[in-house]
Amino acid sequence: QDTVVIKTLNRIVKNFELIHEDFDFLLHHNKLENAVAQISENHFEQIMIILLDNAVKYSEKVKKVDIIVEENIKYIKITVRDYGVGIPESDLSKIFYRFYRVDKARSRAKGGNGLGLAIAKKLVEGYSGTISASSKLGEGTSISLSLPLHHYGR
Ligand code: ATP
Repeated sequence: QDTVVIKTLNRIVKNFELIHEDFDFLLHHNKLENAVAQISENHFEQIMIILLDNAVKYSEKVKKVDIIVEENIKYIKITVRDYGVGIPESDLSKIFYRFYRVDKARSRAKGGNGLGLAIAKKLVEGYSGTISASSKLGEGTSISLSLPLHHYGR
């Protein structure tokens, strides 16, 4: 039920580096290697793969993905930030709906069904977490998820 976030992210990022050699994946965190999130490692990995796949899929010239990990008292927050095509403001609230895809023609060329983010949202909410997006067309996209932290013996 618990995931050591940084250790797991390091492993996932290594796999993405092997598959996408032309991309830079940068993991940023401030001494959070001991932080534990209340989620199964399998589900955490599934969510991260969806977000990282999208970041790669919707990037063009700038092949860089930042993964930023922060914590507060109760939650650990993971942001996947890309410098790709971005999402129009009017579509931002809809990208977590099943089968919703921005710009059908462009998206179809990239493959996919519009299910990834809906699945990620279902999983995150199943662990009392939240997921949200911010983006600027032509500049890139950030998807953030917050998950409850595990606090040992306190
Ligand atoms: P799949 O079902 O394979 O994940 P998908 O990528 O179309 O396909 P979602 O992951 O649910 O489905 O994403 C929904 C839509 O949101 C996408 O079609 C795309 O238009 C937009 N989107 C998602 N992530 C990004 C991103 N990082 N940058 C730009 N657009 C994005």
